[in-house]
Amino acid sequence: MAVRAGREFLAIPGPTTMPDEVLQAMHRPALDIYSSEMVELSESLLRDLSRLFATKGKSYIYIANGHGAWEAVISNVLSRGDKVLVLESGRFALGWGNAAQAMGCEIEVLPGDWRRAVNPAEVEERLRRDTDHRIKAIVVVQVDTASSAVNDLEAIGRAIKAAGHPALYMVDTVASLGCMPFEMDAWGIDVAMSGSQKGLMSPPGLGFVAVGDRARAAHQHADLRTPYWDWTNRDGPEHYQKYAGTAPVHLLFALRKALDMLFAEGLDATFRRHRLLAEAVRSAVGVWSEGQVFSFNIDNARERADTVTTVRAADGHDLAALHRYCKEKCGLVLGVGIGELQNRAFRIAHMGHINAPMILGTLGVIEMALTALNIPHGKGGVAAAIDHLANGVPA
Ligand SMILES: *Cc1c(COP(=O)(O)O)cnc(C)c1O
Repeated sequence: MAVRAGREFLAIPGPTTMPDEVLQAMHRPALDIYSSEMVELSESLLRDLSRLFATKGKSYIYIANGHGAWEAVISNVLSRGDKVLVLESGRFALGWGNAAQAMGCEIEVLPGDWRRAVNPAEVEERLRRDTDHRIKAIVVVQVDTASSAVNDLEAIGRAIKAAGHPALYMVDTVASLGCMPFEMDAWGIDVAMSGSQKGLMSPPGLGFVAVGDRARAAHQHADLRTPYWDWTNRDGPEHYQKYAGTAPVHLLFALRKALDMLFAEGLDATFRRHRLLAEAVRSAVGVWSEGQVFSFNIDNARERADTVTTVRAADGHDLAALHRYCKEKCGLVLGVGIGELQNRAFRIAHMGHINAPMILGTLGVIEMALTALNIPHGKGGVAAAIDHLANGVPA
C-alpha cells in the first residue's frame, strides 16, 4: 500500500520546488540574443541581483552551479600562492577552500565544528596574529547546508574590521540568498556568490557573483584570471560578452519570473515566511527529540538556519528505512546527511517556494514514517508546528 499518487515533493536543499509560473516562463522560443529585449532582460537581472545582495557593486551571471561561482570568485581576485583562510562550520566553506587550493592558493582552515557556527572572536584572534598580512582572503558560508548552521556575517565582518586586517571577505550565500537578510555592503563583505536552484526557486544552472570596490581592486592584479570567468571581459561593450558566449536564455526567463515573484511578495515578507516555517519545523523536531533518538545537529538554537534543518539520529537507527518509507510510500524526498553526517542525519529543507501545506505535509509524513517504522520519537511534533504557525499567523 502507498499514498504517493501525484507530484513527488522534494524536501531536499536543492534543487528546490520551482513555482509553476517559473516553469511556464521557460515554455517559449529563445530570443534573438542580439535583440534589445535580450539586453534589457540581462540588465534587469543584473540590477535586481545587486539589489538582492544589497550592494552598490555590480553582479555577474555565470552558466554554472555554485561550484562554478566559487571558481569565478577565486579566479577573479586571487593569485597563485595567495593564502586563504577558510572558516569551517560544516562542509561548504571547506569545499570552496579546496577549489582555491586546487587552483594554486594556499589554504588554512580555522577549525570549526559541525555542530556550531563560526565564532567571530576566533576569527579576530587569528587575524590579529597574521601581522604581516599573508592572508589575502577569508571564505565563509552564510548557511552551511550540511550542518544547517547559520553564521553571523555581520559579527564576522566586525571582527575582521576590529583586527584591522585587509583580507577580502568572501561569502557563499547559495543556501540563503532570497530567504533571509543579507547585507553585502553594510556588513563589509567584498564579494558574494550564490546559485539559482535553492532559495531563488529557479532551475539549476546559474551562478551569481556580486563584487564590491575592494574585490574590484584586487581583480586588477589577480593572476588566476581566465577568459570565461573574467569580470573585465564580461564588462566589455558587447552584450555577448556578459555570458562569454551564448546567453542561457531560458534560465534567464525563469530567473526573471522568480525574482518578480520574490519582489511582489516583498523581501521582508519572504524572510518572515521563511522564519515562521523554519520555526514550525524546529517545533516538530524539538518534540520528536523527546524520544531520545533524534536531536538538532546545531546545539545552539540561535545558530540554526531558517532554510534547512539537519536532524541527527542516535547510532544504530536505520535512516535508509526512513528515507525509503517517505519516498516510496508517500512521495516525499528528504535530504540525506552528507559528509561526516552520512547515514547519521537527515535534512529537511525549507527554502524558496515553500508554504504551510508543504511544510506541514512534510512534517506530517515524517511523523507518519516514524510511527510506521516504530522509531522512538516524542508524539505531537506536527501539532506543535501547527500551534506555532497558528500563533505566528493570526486570523
Ligand atoms: C548547494 C551549495 C553549494 C554548491 O552548489 P552547487 O550548485 O551544487 O554547485 C555551495 N554552497 C552552499 C552553501 C550550498 O548549499
